[in-house]
Amino acid sequence: MKSSIVITLHGVAPDNKSIDGQDTGAAKYTIARSTFIEIASLIKNNQNCTIEEFVDNPSGTYSILTFDDGLISDYEEAFPVLLDKGLKATFFVTTENIGKSGYMNRSQINEMASHGMEIASHGLQHRYLVDLPESDARRELADSKENLQQLMGRSVTSFAPVGGHYLPWMIGFANDSGYRAFATMIPGRTFCCHTGSPLVIRRNHVQSHHQLSYISSLINGDKYLLTKNRIRYTLLTIPKLLLGMDAYDRIKRNLIGESH
Ligand SMILES: [Zn+2]
Repeated sequence: MKSSIVITLHGVAPDNKSIDGQDTGAAKYTIARSTFIEIASLIKNNQNCTIEEFVDNPSGTYSILTFDDGLISDYEEAFPVLLDKGLKATFFVTTENIGKSGYMNRSQINEMASHGMEIASHGLQHRYLVDLPESDARRELADSKENLQQLMGRSVTSFAPVGGHYLPWMIGFANDSGYRAFATMIPGRTFCCHTGSPLVIRRNHVQSHHQLSYISSLINGDKYLLTKNRIRYTLLTIPKLLLGMDAYDRIKRNLIGESH
């Protein structure tokens, strides 16, 4: 038996500075560099690995850091801290944003991969897969993998759908495409290996407003907190599925005035 607590991060900003990401909500998810250093300090080296390594490891309890979107701060802010602490992480990159302003370029991605960081797929264009025609959703999975593999000359085995939203057939298609891990945004601890292939990963989302004590409880796998987050996630998922993501986001913005 093995298990992991997987943390999801986005941008990391120099202290007292915000990052204007181009993806939905990126700024809302940006944390300060000092917060990230504290998070990295909470991770035990002998329990840290990438998602790819977790799939292969036969047993143990792990703490995994993941970053979504392929933002430039992955390289400029997070990577130096990870190197300094002797940690690894998994970076889910949106392939058509590679080299664009605000995002990592090809050489930065390759440099991180050469230091043991896992470079994984977050699709082609950062679109909600559940809102796409099936053929487009399939391309987001398969073509992004192919693009990243060509760019790096190494295999890509983990996939994270945008927003963590997916339909059951996508897991089967991920398997057919050669992915070995499918990273959701379902909160909780990931146990292995009851879910078949690819391994469905639960991830615990850290946002800019979260206190370090909350993040520490996540990393420590606080059962009460993980269960509470799981229930909240389930309650929020139902209207998203019923309405579709675009309509859900629109209604949410109208109701509470939340910025896109
Ligand atoms: Zn994203």
